[in-house]
Amino acid sequence: MSSPLPPAAALRRIAFLLERAREPTHRVSAFRTAAAVVDTLGPEELDRRIRTRTLTDLKGIGPKTGAAIVQAHAGEVPEYLARLEETHGELTPLADDVAEFRAALRGDLHVHSDWSDGGSPIREMAEAAIGLGHEYMALTDHSPRLTVANGLSPERLERQLDVVAQLNEELAPFRILTGIECDINLDGSLDQTEELLGRLDVVVASVHSDLRAESAAMTERMLRAVADPHTDVLGHCTGRLLIPREQREGRRQRPRPESTFDAEAVFTACVEHGTAVEINSRPERLDPPLRLLHLAVELGCEFAVDTDAHAPGQLDWQGNGCERAVEVGVPVDRVVNTWPAARLLAWTE
Ligand SMILES: [Zn+2]
Ligand SMILES: [Zn+2]
Repeated sequence: MSSPLPPAAALRRIAFLLERAREPTHRVSAFRTAAAVVDTLGPEELDRRIRTRTLTDLKGIGPKTGAAIVQAHAGEVPEYLARLEETHGELTPLADDVAEFRAALRGDLHVHSDWSDGGSPIREMAEAAIGLGHEYMALTDHSPRLTVANGLSPERLERQLDVVAQLNEELAPFRILTGIECDINLDGSLDQTEELLGRLDVVVASVHSDLRAESAAMTERMLRAVADPHTDVLGHCTGRLLIPREQREGRRQRPRPESTFDAEAVFTACVEHGTAVEINSRPERLDPPLRLLHLAVELGCEFAVDTDAHAPGQLDWQGNGCERAVEVGVPVDRVVNTWPAARLLAWTE
């Protein structure tokens, strides 16, 4: 990137690259917050603040973000950004076959926004997806029962559908598919109203509670969920966490082992009911584990290579999932997000 960006765009680019570098969330969000502050200022006020050196008096702008704003405002590439571009600006090269697999992906079916526990507005997520060359993105915020993740009540989801319709008019031909990451309740039912589930383009169903249940109970629960006519994708099927992860309000989640369930029965049901098995690309998940991914390929499952992104830079993580798909020989045509939107939507119906 050689042409200098205006201040807010430069700050967002810095945030994007910090995410790609897997820097801690608070450092990333400092730059995104500062960008939002600059957005509210207007050009004259920004000029005045820079002239009078009062930029850092503003809540949300500190010495580092302030310096980047001043340099971008002067038409330069901020030093901090220049350094990041050098180390993280180019995509990490992937092996040829992985790159080819990845290039076949037309979108992402598991994406969060700040309506639930993501960090960014829907528009920013969509713009980042467009930047990656995607044709569509399913917006799948959490369902009501997941209160820790600010899950959407039926009323909020209704409102989100209106917002998405509006954005789709602006962003066409890119398309935000309506969706949900729906909790699988203990009895295997889905945590949202029938009526709403029926209106959504994409339903990802995931287990987020009672992960240590006995295998028989977990199997029953998952079998019912994948057989539900609304379910399109089975999200992160084992629930494992490989490395600790940061959550909102500075809490940390410790690694945890896979849930136990009869994977052969669950994947067979996925084939029967046309539910795709998600290949979750988050570095702390990488779910399913390779041995289960092998099994799913053998049994004839379809797949969705998803990022489960909670921030724009994370939309770039699909390479992780593609590497694993290539490693176990997932046939590319069995990956539903390589399909054009029309075919995908015919399938989810
Ligand atoms: Zn989830
Ligand atoms: Zn998710």
